[in-house]
Amino acid sequence: MTVFNHEAFADHEQVVFVSDDASGLKALIAIHDTTLGPALGGCRMYPYAGEDEALRDVLRLSRGMTFKAAAAGLDLGGGKAVIIGDPRKQKTPALLQAMGRAVERLRGRYITAEDVGTTVADFAEVRKATGHVVGLPEDLGGTGDPSPTTALGVYYGLEAAARHRWGASRLTGRRVAVQGLGNVGWHLCQFLHEAGATLVVADVDDTRTARAQATFAADIVAPQAIYAADAEIFAPCAMGAILSRETVPQLRCAIVGGAANNQLARDTDGESLAERGILYAPDFVINAGGMIRVASERDGFDKHQVDRDVEAIGTTLKTIFERADGDRTPTQVAAMRIAQERLARSRAERPAIAA
Ligand code: NAD
Repeated sequence: MTVFNHEAFADHEQVVFVSDDASGLKALIAIHDTTLGPALGGCRMYPYAGEDEALRDVLRLSRGMTFKAAAAGLDLGGGKAVIIGDPRKQKTPALLQAMGRAVERLRGRYITAEDVGTTVADFAEVRKATGHVVGLPEDLGGTGDPSPTTALGVYYGLEAAARHRWGASRLTGRRVAVQGLGNVGWHLCQFLHEAGATLVVADVDDTRTARAQATFAADIVAPQAIYAADAEIFAPCAMGAILSRETVPQLRCAIVGGAANNQLARDTDGESLAERGILYAPDFVINAGGMIRVASERDGFDKHQVDRDVEAIGTTLKTIFERADGDRTPTQVAAMRIAQERLARSRAERPAIAA
């Protein structure tokens, strides 16, 4: 395994390999950049095929968090943790506490939270070993499940995209294809339905699509048919890398914006979307609502401030769309430039926080 020469290394400040024999914990913590503040990012548990796969995932995800925080205007850096293992079989209180001890050893340079394969409740265990946790259950002083807030941010982002594309933000009467009816996708459907949008949905779990049909009068398509669905907006809320050489040509929509992380399989897929005249709301900008909410726990949760910050995702996207038009560049590139400019300004003003 190579680390420094890894194609996803991207100048990470620190990569920590964690092992705890007693609990069976094998984990990686990646701290990409602390220019703006301590690195915040979820802790994922997944049965990775091997260490290489886990390393690649943690490096890519933690770098993404740096840009997500920078674009959202948060004083936070980017980090991520991955636990190698099957969450259904290997997740025990002892393992979660061992993970908490590993986080504690970083003395606040990395702040952890729930992610794929971990739940808000799991962090009650992690919390026993470290205070550097956000996204805690409400009875432990946290803000609970961030997914509805992520969905609300996506909704505001889609309004901003609609305004840019069609001159009006109203989503009433618009037809939206939603991929994935999990924690975020379901709440997004609720917001869209309340706004008077019509829905076409796909999920690998048939009970979820059936529930969407009953609740929102949504049309159901097979998972592979969602790309070519007859819809004006496509909202990916399932997995990453779904905008690819194979799927982009199938799209019939004018706007793509959803919660999934790392939606573009390759950078060139962002160019393909732009060439096809499809307005892409960069994932790390439009899906920042949950991060904004959990980050607020550090300064004492202020619901009104969080609401304002989440609504501002729309304003940020407006700036990105205008910059992309002005620079004649894909929106993903414009978003990265804006985030990198904020990092560069901050680096010029002050050094990274001390270890
Ligand atoms: P989730 O696991 O609750 O939901 C994912 C849904 O996608 C499930 O219903 C699953 O059955 C479905 N799915 C899986 N494969 C599919 C496929 N091939 N086609 C259609 N549906 C499929 O996850 P979530 O918390 O709703 O998050 C959704 C995405 O948004 C993830 O990529 C996550 O990383 C990202 N995200 C979530 C948050 C948050 O606050 N939860 C914040 C930022 C980003």
